[in-house]
Amino acid sequence: MGLLEKPFSALKSRAWLILLALLVLGWGLGGLLARLVASRLSRPILELASSAERVAGGELQVELPVASQDEVGHLTDAFNRMTFALKERDEELQSLNRQLEKKVEERTAQLEEKSLQLIRAQEELLRSEKLAAIGSLAAGVAHEINNPAAIIRGNVEILLMELGPETPGREEAEEILKQTERVSLITQNMLAFAREQAIHAEEVQINDLLEEEILEQIGHQVTLGSVHMIRQLDPELPVIEGDRERLRQVFTNMVVNALQAMEGEGTLTVSTEVSKETVVVGVRDTGPGIPEDVRHKIFNPFFTTKQTGTGLGLSVSYGIVKALKGSIEVQSEKGNGALFRVCLPVRS
Ligand code: ADP
Repeated sequence: MGLLEKPFSALKSRAWLILLALLVLGWGLGGLLARLVASRLSRPILELASSAERVAGGELQVELPVASQDEVGHLTDAFNRMTFALKERDEELQSLNRQLEKKVEERTAQLEEKSLQLIRAQEELLRSEKLAAIGSLAAGVAHEINNPAAIIRGNVEILLMELGPETPGREEAEEILKQTERVSLITQNMLAFAREQAIHAEEVQINDLLEEEILEQIGHQVTLGSVHMIRQLDPELPVIEGDRERLRQVFTNMVVNALQAMEGEGTLTVSTEVSKETVVVGVRDTGPGIPEDVRHKIFNPFFTTKQTGTGLGLSVSYGIVKALKGSIEVQSEKGNGALFRVCLPVRS
């Protein structure tokens, strides 16, 4: 063409270079923009994902800020509502659970109380049946023993009258008399126990009964030694409907037992108080107490831990107090004395 080719080829290669530079710049800018957009989009989603993990782990106090009105914003809002609903459901469940636990506890306590009542009723029934059976047997035995014992006693008394004070054999005869007296006491107790506890209803002032007929007289029956006696008698105690003679028997037996347990040393506290329509008499000692394995047997007829005991005192007392529509309780620990509480209704 008669023109030089060099300037054209230089122009061409410059144009190529510019194009290449533009391409590289465009690619770089495009990548940067894409990264920016992607990171704006993915950050809230990643946040949502980590919050969802926390909720799945049991943390329900999660609330995310709704930063936009786009799809991510909707998603965040839906997520917040879902965690709120979950939280409410969880609280509801917990409160239901607590109510259920409370109900279960109440029912368990009621059930325990009922089974305790049932056990007590069974024990009472068993005791009554046992008492009735033993009662009729005891009455028969006592009756049979009474006659020969009375004959032995009568003969020994005659023998003693004839024997001089220093005569050989007198001591033995006296011992026979002592033992036959003990046999008579046992048979009397057996008969008392076997007898239907017929009550002679009359007005009884328990404080007077305790003071005049038991505490003042008790020294004739048991050696008091250095026992300290405390009376805590309620002066406002109402007169009750009872049987003076039978109640004297009950409290005498309790006081004698307490004094025997203390073996001449300790404190005997006799108390009276009124609670609602019930008079409560307490006999407390500071003796050795009643071991747990013995405690449930002490009201059984013929149960005794004493060498010369009959084991009838408390079973007879139990029958009398029951006939008066009252109850006897015992509290004791080994080595810590014993407390007998007799509850008697003012109107039986
Ligand atoms: P007894 O006195 O003839 O043994 P009870 O029926 O009166 O018969 O008593 C039964 C048993 O109860 C006694 O042998 C004794 O083991 C126990 N007991 C009663 N009262 C007491 C007491 N205050 N302290 C310790 N044990 C007692």
